Amino acid sequence: MNKTIYLDHASTTKVDQEVLDVYTNAVSASFANPSSVHLLGQQALRELDKCRESILRLLNLNDHQVIFLSGATEANNLAIKGVCLKYQNRGKHIVTSIYEHPSVLEAFKQLETEFDFEVSYLYPNESGVITVDTVKSAIRKDTIFVSIMAVNNEIGVVNPIEDIAKVLKEFPKVIFHTDACQAVGKMNKSINFKDVDLITLSSHKIHGPVGTGALLKRKKIELLSLNSGGGQEYNFRSGTNDLAGALAFKKALEISLKEQSARFNHVKELSEIIIDYLAKHKSDFELNSTEPINPYIINFSSINKKGSVIVEALSNYGVMVSSVSACHSSKEKGSYVVKSLGKSDKAVMNTIRVSLDYTNTKEEILEFLSILDKVIGEIR
Ligand code: PMP
Repeated sequence: MNKTIYLDHASTTKVDQEVLDVYTNAVSASFANPSSVHLLGQQALRELDKCRESILRLLNLNDHQVIFLSGATEANNLAIKGVCLKYQNRGKHIVTSIYEHPSVLEAFKQLETEFDFEVSYLYPNESGVITVDTVKSAIRKDTIFVSIMAVNNEIGVVNPIEDIAKVLKEFPKVIFHTDACQAVGKMNKSINFKDVDLITLSSHKIHGPVGTGALLKRKKIELLSLNSGGGQEYNFRSGTNDLAGALAFKKALEISLKEQSARFNHVKELSEIIIDYLAKHKSDFELNSTEPINPYIINFSSINKKGSVIVEALSNYGVMVSSVSACHSSKEKGSYVVKSLGKSDKAVMNTIRVSLDYTNTKEEILEFLSILDKVIGEIR
């Protein structure tokens, strides 16, 4: 294999050097436990608090607090189960979309099967969008919680999170959560999260280290803690604070927001090359991502060949893409996200996801497409 072309950035990204420098410096210089009362512990605590403030400032939020945890999976679990179990005496109807990440869907399923909640799973429209009207019409008197992702991790569709949040303000009993880990730092303009009660973020999707993320929570909202212990993270997530991880995540967020627009334009150009190619190869591929897509994620299905065989063959030529999301537990059933768009079983079984990044070059994309041509010709 010659050089590899990595096009699986929705799964994870490589840590930026600047972020790594922050991390390595912090693990040695700021190693003390922020819960310790001695001088070094208190210095670490101040650094951690400053880090929380910086994250809120970066996202223009002043009514929220930052709960650091291990990533988006944990943030989603804490948001969903933490809120629903805390407020279950107000009603037991909760709402999400059918194509959320498994860390959302499985948490909803657990509430449904083990705790007697009733869940409405919303379907996207023909463009893949969960519309404001769809959300609004799902709200009932006993609805207490809604979770809709900002950008879908398999097809890249962008949901109208700001508008959904605004409409949900008409229902004061409803708490609104969004999994924004594929959106923050990857949009043409930053999302205004002011009206969103809970926001999930993950560091490794934006060139920070794996194992760090945050749940941003409106201060007045309570959560049932899922991690009991020493009371760290406002008592919502006990366990010794990971200051180095938090500082590295903040750095990654800062860079990705500062560079967001330039990176977006670059990635958009790359995505257009791929979309043009797919449009010229309609007998081989069907595009599953439709407007409004985030150009970072392009999803298409192979018409005549097995998607997983193409993904493997590309990998043998050094091109890393994925079939369904890496977090998908039942890959043999195909993509439930593409299925939710009403696509054929064949399309559902043969998806290919290319997820781009600012580090990818035009040359890499052209090389990928020429390898794709070759692979299609070689596979029987
Ligand atoms: N939500 C979405 C939309 C994702 O794409 C992912 C990562 N595949 C997750 C949650 C889980 O993220 P983490 O690895 O940080 O737990």
